[in-house]
Amino acid sequence: MSTITRFAPSPTGRLHVGNIRTALHNWMLAKRHGGAFILRIDDTDAERSREEYVEAIRADLAWLGLDWDREERQSARLTRYEAAFTALRDAGRIYPCYESAQELEVKRKIALGRGLPPIYDRASLKLTEAERAAKEAEGIAPHWRFLLDHAEPITWDDGIRGAQKFDAAQLSDPVIRRADGSWLYMMPSAVDDIDMGITQVLRGEDHVSNTAVQIQIFTALYAADFAAAQNAAKLLPAFAHEALLVGREGKLSKRLGSLGCDAFRERGIEPEAIIALLARLGTSQPVEPIADRAALIESFDLASFGRAPAKFDEEDLERLNAAIVHQLPFASVEERLPSGMDEAGWHAIRPNLAHVAEAGEWWRLVTGPIDQPEFTAEDRAYLAEAAVALQWSEDPWGALTGSLKESTGRKGRGLFLPLRQALTGMDHGPDMGELLPLIGEVEARARLGRAAA
Ligand code: GLU
Repeated sequence: MSTITRFAPSPTGRLHVGNIRTALHNWMLAKRHGGAFILRIDDTDAERSREEYVEAIRADLAWLGLDWDREERQSARLTRYEAAFTALRDAGRIYPCYESAQELEVKRKIALGRGLPPIYDRASLKLTEAERAAKEAEGIAPHWRFLLDHAEPITWDDGIRGAQKFDAAQLSDPVIRRADGSWLYMMPSAVDDIDMGITQVLRGEDHVSNTAVQIQIFTALYAADFAAAQNAAKLLPAFAHEALLVGREGKLSKRLGSLGCDAFRERGIEPEAIIALLARLGTSQPVEPIADRAALIESFDLASFGRAPAKFDEEDLERLNAAIVHQLPFASVEERLPSGMDEAGWHAIRPNLAHVAEAGEWWRLVTGPIDQPEFTAEDRAYLAEAAVALQWSEDPWGALTGSLKESTGRKGRGLFLPLRQALTGMDHGPDMGELLPLIGEVEARARLGRAAA
């Protein structure tokens, strides 16, 4: 059976770094096993879902290079949810409820006040037929809850957290449908996972108790013979829940919730840096500037994920970004480079960059004009000698410094620094052996001459 994973964002906002991590891990899991990765838009909440967010989600995933094999949308699957609802209701696993939001809130407060967990008391389940009819005659439209089975503990072997056990009696029967007929997250998600043959559900640990509920929904649907053709075996997916992502200070930070692809792009962070960091963060594997996705996919292993919150540090991301930029091939950055900058130019300048956008500043050292510092009389004489000694070859820098070393007896800083300053106007920067051929013979001689004057 091949692996099928899904990333199921609700299009009620932009993706943030936590969502990106979930998407990445599901993508990697599918790739690791030669399976399929589904982008599923969880848009049952018509009021909060926006088409612009659907488009932004697609654009962000595309920018990150996380390609999906198929796209599904919950809003296109409403008849399927209706069928599941009917099947569960006929099986006695869904019941109508009449409490208002205020009444539920009062019940919650009373329970909490008594030191009890705020679990729904199933008052509506106990209503007689006549009492229900009376509520409806009053014009109260019911919302609907799924009836949890309290008999057996709910267990699963979590791919990250290990053996899990939940007592259903400690959970509220979840509301799965609102009074206006619209759907809440819980049941459609399970129906989709069945219909789409999802083999692995990998998501954040904030969904652990949802999984307990959804396992019962799966089981109830299967008992009611509700299975899609591609899932005739009535399998439950394997579940795994990742520890949450926290900020550097170890807390769930507001900042992470608003940090997304736009912010990364504006700061010149490469998708490969984000991928390299998020692929390994929170695992026992080292975070390294690995630009080769195949290598990251190859090493992806749920067993290496830890239970402790994963700390996202923006400084780590910057460091990783620089190391990734130093590896980027010309073809992948060509369009973002200043005009005229060729492959040799990129290779010369790339080691100096923290961000690709800085290439222009360094390229100006080649194209000029440059600002030279004031030189001492002694250095001016030295540079005059250099202008004469300059000879063009495969390696003009090696030849120039070799001959000047011999003729002047200078070495180290005294040999190199005035030349670098005269040729680039800077006292640090790209390797001169690579830079000098790019500056060219005529310009180089002119710069040395000007500095000597
Ligand atoms: N739409 C849900 C969310 O964004 C999906 C959760 C899931 O993976 O099932 O939290």
